[in-house]
Amino acid sequence: MSAHSLPDSIVVWHSLEVDSALERLATNAETGLSHQEVQRRLQEYGPNELQETRGRSTLDILVDQFKNVMLLMLIAVAIVSGVLDLLNWQQKLAKGELPFKDTIAILAIVILNGILGYVQESRAEKALAALKKLASPIVRVLRESQLLEVAAKELVPGDVMLLEAGVHIAADGLLLEQSNLQVRESALTGEAHPVNKQASIHLPEDTGIGDRVNLVFQGTEVIQGRAKVLVTNTGMKTELGQIAAMLQSVENEPTPLQQRMDQLGKVLVTGSLVLVAIVVVGGIIRTGGFSELQELLEVSLSMAVAVVPEGLPAVITVALALGTQRMVRRNALIRKLPAVETLGSVSTICSDKTGTLTQNKMVVQSISTLNCQFSVTGNGYNPIGEFQFQCRKVQLHDYSELQALLIACALCNDSVLQQEKGEWKILGDPTEGALLTLAAKGGIEQDQWQSKLPRVSEFPFSSERKRMSVVCQVEQVETGVSPLTAVDPLISNLLKSESYLMFTKGSPELTLARCTHIYIGTGTIPLNEQQRQSILSQNDQMAGNGLRVLGFAYKPFSDIPPEGSDETSEQQLVWLGLVGMLDAPRPEVRAAVQECRDAGIRPVMITGDHQLTAQAIAIDLGIAKVGDRVLTGSELQRMSDQELEENVDLVNIYARVAPEHKLRIVQALQRRGRFVAMTGDGVNDAPALKQADIGIAMGITGTDVSKEASDMVLLDDNFATIVAATKEGRVVYTNIRRFIKYILGSNIGEVLTIAAAPILLPMGGVPLTPLQILWMNLVTDGLPALALALEPPEPDVMKRPPFSPRESIFSKGLGSYIIRIGIVFAIITIILMEWAYHHVQIVKGPGLDPDRWKTMVFTALCIAQMGHALAIRSNTQLTIQMNPFSNLFVLGSVLLTTILQLMLVYIPPLRTFFGTHWLSPTELAICFGFSALMFVWIELEKLFLRLIGKGHRA
Ligand code: ATP
Repeated sequence: MSAHSLPDSIVVWHSLEVDSALERLATNAETGLSHQEVQRRLQEYGPNELQETRGRSTLDILVDQFKNVMLLMLIAVAIVSGVLDLLNWQQKLAKGELPFKDTIAILAIVILNGILGYVQESRAEKALAALKKLASPIVRVLRESQLLEVAAKELVPGDVMLLEAGVHIAADGLLLEQSNLQVRESALTGEAHPVNKQASIHLPEDTGIGDRVNLVFQGTEVIQGRAKVLVTNTGMKTELGQIAAMLQSVENEPTPLQQRMDQLGKVLVTGSLVLVAIVVVGGIIRTGGFSELQELLEVSLSMAVAVVPEGLPAVITVALALGTQRMVRRNALIRKLPAVETLGSVSTICSDKTGTLTQNKMVVQSISTLNCQFSVTGNGYNPIGEFQFQCRKVQLHDYSELQALLIACALCNDSVLQQEKGEWKILGDPTEGALLTLAAKGGIEQDQWQSKLPRVSEFPFSSERKRMSVVCQVEQVETGVSPLTAVDPLISNLLKSESYLMFTKGSPELTLARCTHIYIGTGTIPLNEQQRQSILSQNDQMAGNGLRVLGFAYKPFSDIPPEGSDETSEQQLVWLGLVGMLDAPRPEVRAAVQECRDAGIRPVMITGDHQLTAQAIAIDLGIAKVGDRVLTGSELQRMSDQELEENVDLVNIYARVAPEHKLRIVQALQRRGRFVAMTGDGVNDAPALKQADIGIAMGITGTDVSKEASDMVLLDDNFATIVAATKEGRVVYTNIRRFIKYILGSNIGEVLTIAAAPILLPMGGVPLTPLQILWMNLVTDGLPALALALEPPEPDVMKRPPFSPRESIFSKGLGSYIIRIGIVFAIITIILMEWAYHHVQIVKGPGLDPDRWKTMVFTALCIAQMGHALAIRSNTQLTIQMNPFSNLFVLGSVLLTTILQLMLVYIPPLRTFFGTHWLSPTELAICFGFSALMFVWIELEKLFLRLIGKGHRA
């Protein structure tokens, strides 16, 4: 095969003649490829598979973990500490200390943190799993004139593939032959309605993917018919593969939390380097030389270890994971872990209407023909109910236009109504289900009518077209007689002298615009302007009552209209009437909308439905007020991005929009600085879901591709679930801030205490070794911090505005808190250190080590953090006012940590390992006494802030 005949993705297959396509792929439609050629092409193009991992290798992910500035500093500390130990190992051994203990401990922590980050990232999304599942494993192909079954991954471009009803299509291809082929392409285009395919045509180059009726695509499925297909593209070159590649190649921006953590790391490292410089330079100046350089270096190392919150990444991971679990319990499945925390920043929720804000259980309530407005009784999908005109029951045969409308409802319909265990259920679209129930209430059974008037062609529904048509055959072509026209004067009335009837249903305005006549029971008359206006005002009236309204029309044909001729065939229709159905709002949504408003979140409705229907429901739910502006898809289409941006904060309802408008709305909101959550279900919604800060897919009605593009999936498709998840997001973020305050306050206290030692206590040495600091940062701070991650929501969590994603981690008092508490911490421990240092010179005795002042400092720092943990549970409430049992984990962790700390002081092997010393009961009591001051201080702070009326948040 010559190079120019290679298939490639830029070949516009749908505009090629079959012969030239065969030639291009050097194959034969009757014999297929030879086995040898298949092997060669397999080598060349690779297997027909979607690649699951691209981009970063395992090694890359692992290396990336160590690019974190705090871990780099720890690595540097480990190296310097190792070098110092190397120089002094003999002295250390002589003193009974293990050399390299600190180096090993620090490196272990670095490695643990690296592994933690790695595990978290590599767990991230098997983004292609669902897409991959769509490819079928076995395919029938023609090779060397033989029909074979081969594994789908062995397909190559140029293969001749055979399709039949029910198969999943395994590669993209051009139709060579087909009979009655209908393919469901929802996996690719989001449209549930099957597409009729056609062979031997060539289409204009710019034909959209949904209209390429001479091609079939990987991942779609054959509903009906058979076909012989020339495989044009396989693997990642297929349309599905390209979507997969697109989804993979989108780099996810770092989340607010990741950005904040980076910022935090930089501030801490810079701060500690400055402090180290001050201590070292100050020490050199004070001693007038380098005599104490080693001690100064040891102090610096301890300070560097003290400043890094080694336990923080683990605590954050656990907090996010717990948040995810809580959200799943509330039916929100988080697909990307940081979304848990990002949800707390959501300031605008853009939601679909049907199914998310409403129940998607439709019941037809009223019908309008030109002169009559009927109401319909009954509940749910149960086909029992009556038709009333002016409050009186009517007989259907008295109103033939009503009868015709019901026939259209039954035939222009892709759903099935069936009874399961006594309950009426709908298989398919609830809108269509309501129409089947309606028809059945009038005695029009779908099965019967489908066999009387079999469907021969159709123009399917799409959100863009907002309508659908089916063409039914009436005359029996073979015999030339139609039993039906003889028995059914109504049909013969509609049919005139033609053989086929097309029924159309869809958005009333668009359907009416295509009508030139109206059916009035006895026959058709031209539709005049006055009648048109009267129908539109009937529509407005029904929509204004919150009903979802569909318009119905029909048209007789002498021949089956050609496929793809919807624009011309769906013209000059005969109007039948309007059907209005109630899709009641979900009862829980009203409260959820109010909760949003209280929480400073703006709910916005984006729907394909009529503006008045949308408005009525939005007002009912509290999303909009009477008189609020509604922006329609066509108005939006005419607006520039600039104009949209100017209006986007004022509009709470978007009606009659197409999926592509959603992307523009998200972008405009984001340019206004909003943090947007957006719902979607079709494939066409995927770009908007990707663009949104939180993309939300529907678990029940959503397509796989929309789920792939989302950050969160609503298992119950319910708006209230989004609000519940947002609340959880806030709780997680508040708790993260809480334990960051808790951990960093202690870190600052440690650093300042260590820095003060060489200044205040000449010849005193370093109060805390790196190993003791790691113990504090990981265990005695880490355990209570984990418990704080489980703190239940504060009562006002949904009464505050959202956290700005751009705000610094140190905002809203967090930075000043850390510094203030760190200083208080340091002052308390430094006073204790000063006292203990002199105390141990006086109180001497057997078993009493002169270095035990260091253990007193170590113990006081740990125990003070226990008081801190108890007090920090609330920013406003005093600890005695709080229920101590509302978070038993905090109580438990405080108790456990205190016991662990005492074990370090009183169990000899642990004492040796951690370099601590035995403390007398009095000394221990003094440590506890000093530590309690920390708790007292925070409680006094709360009291003070309450007195001046300024409780600080989070
Ligand atoms: P939402 O966007 O809130 O989910 P929606 O269901 O109205 O609301 P689409 O599914 O895009 O959005 O439908 C758009 C419009 O197309 C509907 O408002 C209705 O007028 C019309 N329509 C919906 N379903 C059908 C159908 N099965 N057949 C014909 N027309 C339909």
